[in-house]
Amino acid sequence: MLVIMNREATEEQLRNAIDAIEKMGLKAHPIPGSMRTAIGITGNKGPLEPALFESLDGVVQAIPVSKPYKLVSRETKTENTVIDFSSTSIGGRELTIIAGPCAVESREQIFLAAEKAKEAGATILRGGAFKPRTSPYAFQGLGEEGLRLLAEAGKSVGLPVVSEVIDAESVGLAEKYVDIMQIGARNMQNFVLLKRVGKVKQAVMLKRGMSATLEEFLMSAEYILSEGNYRVFLCERGVRTFTDFTRNTLDISIIPAVKRLSHLPIITDPSHGTGRREKVLPMARASIAAGADGVMVEMHPEPEKALSDGFQSLYPRQLVTLCEELHRIAPIIGRV
Ligand code: PEP
Ligand code: MN
Repeated sequence: MLVIMNREATEEQLRNAIDAIEKMGLKAHPIPGSMRTAIGITGNKGPLEPALFESLDGVVQAIPVSKPYKLVSRETKTENTVIDFSSTSIGGRELTIIAGPCAVESREQIFLAAEKAKEAGATILRGGAFKPRTSPYAFQGLGEEGLRLLAEAGKSVGLPVVSEVIDAESVGLAEKYVDIMQIGARNMQNFVLLKRVGKVKQAVMLKRGMSATLEEFLMSAEYILSEGNYRVFLCERGVRTFTDFTRNTLDISIIPAVKRLSHLPIITDPSHGTGRREKVLPMARASIAAGADGVMVEMHPEPEKALSDGFQSLYPRQLVTLCEELHRIAPIIGRV
């Protein structure tokens, strides 16, 4: 249910409406808009009667939300969500370029990567510290030390940082170091983890599961918002198909589909989406042209020495080219 407040509704009327909703045993999610405030309601077991809310002071209308996902739906919030950080934002006019190595490997590596990312024009630095690898024998990441180095490297160049969390313990650690928590493809439907990051103050980047439908993807985002964290953005990272010339198939068509159904920002990850560095740049261009709010790419100062995902990691000079090309595409589609 979506409760729409009157344009002239006062703060007090809004507070009273929220109190009344909570007294009914429901959860109220205030959604400020440029014209008026709405309140999303969750926690109901069955259908709700609009009249129950329309009689509250300052309320114009109560509208049942037809989609199974409520808070992430455009029905609930028509305006695009913009997630602000001190130096940048995600989902506004400015394109987001997240770059950095698959994994933090050493102080030298992440500081050099940070410098190269910043120089090229990236807006956010990435680096994995907890790596969910296919093989238990592969490099698993540096853990807390990796988070600490990433945070220091980000600070040294003035970029916010993103890193993956895989369980409650890593969330607890990441709360001390990162600006954005990444939920990886393999954990897109780890509902316990989704609820946990619904309670942190950091933004959350939710990656699409490798065989997740659009509805499953949005329902997973709904888990996070339903716990009160509205700073969520989506990342298309490729899905499993029969093609054998790429690691995954980057599903660019999900961008307009998400934009139609949800107000959340969506970026793509052409690195994991293709698995080969020569395919990253064309797919990044295509993503932006298709309306994505940005891209996340892996870049390593020395890709041949990378402990993970070297084949898909850009050389620093390739990131420069990527940024230059995206800067040229941006104005054509009304972005900067
Ligand atoms: C990553 O971004 O480092 C990663 C492991 O991606 P995914 O979860 O999409 O495989
Ligand atoms: Mn990787």
